[in-house]
Amino acid sequence: MKNSGLELRLAAGSAFLFVLILMAGCSKPAGQTEITKWQYGCNGAVSVTYDDGSINQFRKALPIMNRLKMSGTFFINTGSIPGSTYQGKFIGRPVSQIIKEARSIPTGKENFFERASAARYLGYRGTGDYFTRAGAQMDADRPEEAYKIIDELYKKVNSGELQKLSERKRDDERNDVLTWEMIKEYASQGHEFASHMVTHPYVAALDEVNLMYELEKSKEEILNKLGDKYTFSAECPYGSENERAMVYAHKVYPALRNRMPEPFLEELNRSSRKSAVDPGKEYVQWQRGATTKTPLPMMKAWVDTTANQQNIWLVLVIHGIDGIGWEALKSEDVDEYFQYIRSKENELWVATFGDAAKYMRERMNATVKSSENNGTFNVELTHSLDKSMYDLPLTLKTYVKNRWKVVSVKQGDNKKEINTKRDEKGTYVMYQAIPNSSGIEISSF
Ligand SMILES: [Zn+2]
Repeated sequence: MKNSGLELRLAAGSAFLFVLILMAGCSKPAGQTEITKWQYGCNGAVSVTYDDGSINQFRKALPIMNRLKMSGTFFINTGSIPGSTYQGKFIGRPVSQIIKEARSIPTGKENFFERASAARYLGYRGTGDYFTRAGAQMDADRPEEAYKIIDELYKKVNSGELQKLSERKRDDERNDVLTWEMIKEYASQGHEFASHMVTHPYVAALDEVNLMYELEKSKEEILNKLGDKYTFSAECPYGSENERAMVYAHKVYPALRNRMPEPFLEELNRSSRKSAVDPGKEYVQWQRGATTKTPLPMMKAWVDTTANQQNIWLVLVIHGIDGIGWEALKSEDVDEYFQYIRSKENELWVATFGDAAKYMRERMNATVKSSENNGTFNVELTHSLDKSMYDLPLTLKTYVKNRWKVVSVKQGDNKKEINTKRDEKGTYVMYQAIPNSSGIEISSF
């Protein structure tokens, strides 16, 4: 009987030892620090983006976002905002020369971009429609079809079939337009405003100088009215992924919703680009979801997938709301949908398009060093990017001593007491840190 009692104690003892070894085997050495994939250690990121600046985005959707403490990104056409310095225009030879030349020379590779760029500024009614249709063909990589459309336009101009445009005065007194005063106020509430070009053109159909005008002048307008924080992101209209135009656009804007240049970003649901991502490596999938025509349950399923996986950045694209704007959503649905996103706030980081892009880039280009000195952990966070542009705090997770319950985290003058948490690797503290700033000190409180 005594013997079996001893045996029992021995068995219990070795089981205890076994557990200890297991814990030591997978426990992180105290001080080890990682940057979490998304802010606050969330599983995924969601960016709510709006195009074209139609008025109900601000009257209906923005108040819902404010109520739920969500920040959105609004891609605006700067030329249509009252008081803007830069309007749409054609830069090049006098249009009369171009019109005259079209009488004898058919539209082709050599003259298409000039003729298409001038198309909306010929001084006749209805020419914008030809430009848009030709642009869609260029975007779809059907240049011959685009040439035909532009040829047809110039033929009609030359045969006098189109009505001359009369001087139309801009009506800046209308009360249903977005103004810079409104934009400044919404920006101060935490929303991002970004370029959707000056006149909402098909960038694929513009020649270099007119394309650069749309890219640079919309940026300059936003810079002068709002400041350089808002010149980070852009969206070339119609979701263009035209190779030639994207090269120019990436020179002007660090982040394009059309396409991001990162090799670690794998696009979901876009057939036009093959995945170059090695799934074994660090990567993020980004999914752009056009909410128009999509049933609410499917839109919610995107959110579920993003919340349950580790590597998805869901970028929602919204146009019209309550009858105003392209393929308008109902604001009740928008409200229900945003509440659904918010209900997963432990899993999802809702961030502007620019902030999500910045977080990802900072994380990928960051170096974290940690050391221990007299029971205090010192962590240094630096990155190699442009420091004035990439100043978003990152979320760090530092493993501390197993017995620590509350720790003090100090960076510069900023000091916080934070409760530790445990995961399978050990006891850790999660906190936000500003890169390229003072070192972070972590000690038991
Ligand atoms: Zn648009």
